[in-house]
Amino acid sequence: MTTLLWLRQDLRLHDHPALTAATQEGPVIPVYILDDDAPGAWRIGGAQRWWLHHSLAALGHAYTKKHSRLILRRGDAVATLTALMEETGATAIHAIRHYEPWWRKAEDALGERLCLHDGNHLAPPERVTTGSGGQFRIYSAFWKGLQAHLPPETPLPVPHTIAAPERWPSSESLTDWHLLPTKPDWSGGFDWTPGEAEAQRKIATLDLDGYDDRRNMPSQEGTSRLSPHLHFGEVSPRAVWHASGAHDVTFRKELAWRDFTDGVVLAMPDYGRKNGRAAYDTLPWRSGAAARRDLRAWQRGRTGYPIVDAGMRQLWRTGWMHNRVRMITASFLIKHLLIDWREGERWFWDCLIDADYGNNAVNWQWVAGTGVDANMFGRIMAPLSQSEKFDAGDYIREWVPELAGLSDDAIHDPEAAGCLPKDYAPKLIGHREARERALAAGRKVR
Ligand code: FAD
Repeated sequence: MTTLLWLRQDLRLHDHPALTAATQEGPVIPVYILDDDAPGAWRIGGAQRWWLHHSLAALGHAYTKKHSRLILRRGDAVATLTALMEETGATAIHAIRHYEPWWRKAEDALGERLCLHDGNHLAPPERVTTGSGGQFRIYSAFWKGLQAHLPPETPLPVPHTIAAPERWPSSESLTDWHLLPTKPDWSGGFDWTPGEAEAQRKIATLDLDGYDDRRNMPSQEGTSRLSPHLHFGEVSPRAVWHASGAHDVTFRKELAWRDFTDGVVLAMPDYGRKNGRAAYDTLPWRSGAAARRDLRAWQRGRTGYPIVDAGMRQLWRTGWMHNRVRMITASFLIKHLLIDWREGERWFWDCLIDADYGNNAVNWQWVAGTGVDANMFGRIMAPLSQSEKFDAGDYIREWVPELAGLSDDAIHDPEAAGCLPKDYAPKLIGHREARERALAAGRKVR
């Protein structure tokens, strides 16, 4: 029996339960559908289009090596799969389950034709529940609840053979999708190798020595940089888990955040657009021309706060930003500039190669304090002390060359040190003033 294998954010051959199940039934037609103009779907951001192009090219190559093919189609996923079933005589569709609300809608619409498999989490989020059967809202409680499901299952091998159908359906050409940027091509600084082979190489050489401390230092390569590979499913989280050791608890706890965030969006599908705490709908965010100007300065890395500017420029140039700096830049936008977290979330969505509906929304709302897990609007990160604590100056020097010549003492706050270079902007707002404005806004929440 021929079946379709519907690929989405699971662009791999290793540990792919849907692929394994499909090969056991007979010939397999692997298909990727570009469906991001569907109502309710979040259009894939610019940086991720670049990644997707290369990842699909690599996957297509891997299937060819297995004497199979990757079929590419564009359009509504449900309609395209329905048409492909008719065209090929396929009897079923195999796929890995996803939790983005638009994917869940499509999965529902396909009904019994679709055979769903778990494979992109340490444990299926709907099975990790509180005593009353709901999703966890607090990470620490989630981590405790997850223990009953650990360790995750052993990863599956790549199927030995993938039987081909007698006749292949036609495929669109990847280059016709124009996923790569052209005028201008801003991807010059994207020093990444998308695809499963690189993800496998990274887990085979995973070095988590000193991760607990080094992960907070943005100038060091102290983290795995697996996030885009995990988002696109080029590697499974359980393969990553088993590649780490029992003593790498901090790392495993970070890895489990992905599972937690998908549990949150399972319970609250519009978490990417709605405050987790409805009371925050009354928060008086800034808007108007001055706020728009400040937003633009933040996006371009011209806020006058070197650590914030370094992070925003790293994001723009490389499509990735260090986690500690993601927290600092997000907090700065929300609290110092008093701009709605959704503006920042949207910018990250477009610029991050690892942009992920659940991870992005839950982290933005976590920093904002508008989410389900913490009520922390009043907790305001001080960017200057964060900068002094976590960067000896090397990170700022790398991303803000105007400041490269400053001393370690002056580099975190050149304005206060009285050595502001002519080509570097003064602060948009002072820390104390910003803090008072944010706290006053927080008090207005009813
Ligand atoms: P490592 O430290 O090596 O961690 C291993 C893996 O664990 C990561 O690849 C990632 O899949 C997962 N992970 C680690 N930390 C988190 C976390 N806080 N939340 C969820 N998963 C985590 N991560 C995304 O994958 N996509 C996003 O869109 C995203 N948006 C973010 C927005 C903000 C405002 C903040 C503060 C964090 C965001 N993160 C996001 C989480 C985190 O910054 C990245 O996952 C991490 O920096 C990726 O680098 P790494 O692979 O080297 O991480």
